[in-house]
Amino acid sequence: MATLKPLIGITAHVAMVDDGVGVSAAHNVAQVTYAKAVRKAGGIPVLLPLGDATDAAEQLDAVDGVLVTGGADVNPDRYGARPEAHTEPADPARDEYEIAMIRAARAGERPLLCICRGIQVMNVALGGTLRQHYDDHFDLHRFNEDAHRVRVEPGTLLAKIVQTHELGVNSLHHQTIDALAPALRASAYSDDGVIEGVEAGGARFALGVQWHPELLRHRPEHLALFEALVDASAPR
Ligand code: MN
Repeated sequence: MATLKPLIGITAHVAMVDDGVGVSAAHNVAQVTYAKAVRKAGGIPVLLPLGDATDAAEQLDAVDGVLVTGGADVNPDRYGARPEAHTEPADPARDEYEIAMIRAARAGERPLLCICRGIQVMNVALGGTLRQHYDDHFDLHRFNEDAHRVRVEPGTLLAKIVQTHELGVNSLHHQTIDALAPALRASAYSDDGVIEGVEAGGARFALGVQWHPELLRHRPEHLALFEALVDASAPR
């Protein structure tokens, strides 16, 4: 019997994980909170194991919506730059998989929510570039409270979802969007001019945020992002 709740695929990458028995290569989503937020919003979270572009396309067919998670820096090769001093080691397989997933989701009109690294991969996947290091946007101590505010652009999908034009957000990133991909519109800015939200036009939901709403899911305006993804993913 088909479920009435939308299946939300959450991208998992491969990392060396110590599970108490030993260290091994494991499919990993760095935070349990992504799945918790999807569940709280009324969706069924399922983890999508990293694969190639064909795997990404097949997985996409099997789910109703996709959440692209946070993580380490995108390989600068992907946007025509060389790694700078603060840029983290590349994970080419993860870049390849998530870029394929985002492009497939756009082509297949599947709803897409991209968080932190996700917004950066989304921008790169659609032709944009990244600034490789920026101070003052990594505040681990306030991971589940406000680190800075963002201004939400009137008339955007984001504004409709959060129902406000000013939002307190956490900030756990050291890279930012530089050149915005042509297909994207900026939907939120920090006071120092960092693009903190993006969205694609078109009929289907495609949203990226630079902050971590899953760690702020106790606040309705942040849970609303997951509710909007789940709602957009509902069979129609
Ligand atoms: Mn920030």
